[in-house]
Amino acid sequence: MQEKGAETRKASIDPKRLRSRMVREQLEARGISDARVLDAMWRVPRHMFVPEGLAPHAYDDSSLPIGYGQTISQPYTVARMSELLKIEPGMRVLEIGAGSGYQAAVLAAMGCTVYAIERLRELFIATTAKLRKMGLRTIHLKCGDGTLGLAHAAPFHRIIVSAGGPEIPPPLVEQLRDDGILLIPVGARQREQRLVRLRRIHGRIVQEDLGPAVFVDLVGNHGWR
Ligand code: SAH
Repeated sequence: MQEKGAETRKASIDPKRLRSRMVREQLEARGISDARVLDAMWRVPRHMFVPEGLAPHAYDDSSLPIGYGQTISQPYTVARMSELLKIEPGMRVLEIGAGSGYQAAVLAAMGCTVYAIERLRELFIATTAKLRKMGLRTIHLKCGDGTLGLAHAAPFHRIIVSAGGPEIPPPLVEQLRDDGILLIPVGARQREQRLVRLRRIHGRIVQEDLGPAVFVDLVGNHGWR
């Protein structure tokens, strides 16, 4: 099959209209109010981050498969995680579980420099090529086990883990700046987690439970084996 050009895709699904609808009906209506989050989600072309055949569903109220047994999170989940991080432009953010690169692109659109780690090599290669093609130069994608963090680029203002593991990986806490925020789904069972927000306040660690969450597995040294 011949590859459809971006223009053809654009014409057939009118992404801008679908995006403003997504922002209104899925995000604002459910209480997302951070203007930077809403603006970034309005600007980032989510349909470029899903497999081509699923582009017509890119703005649906659901997660979608991106191959390799992984998923791109539901728009609301990406918005909520982004809002809970309390992002300010210029922050250095580490994302564990880059997948399609969509969450990283939203954070980059909010003015952050993003370091994103993906453990699956094929997905890493595909996402690297896509980010390069899109010219997203403030996202630095690495391949490896993100539960070890990224010591050479630390410390980070914010760390977001886009997969669920059995514990909070100690290296991530170590690589968090003072006044930093770490957001991670944690659960003793797979695909059944609680979203945890950890802050380092003047060296002291404070943890909040933000309710139930369902993420794919965080696999690694400080994740599921
Ligand atoms: N943020 C992504 C969500 C992808 S799903 C998006 O917007 O598309 C979570 C991803 O975490 C998967 O791609 C999975 O391969 C990856 N992952 C799981 N454990 C990991 C680890 N230890 N280090 C890095 N990536 C990991």
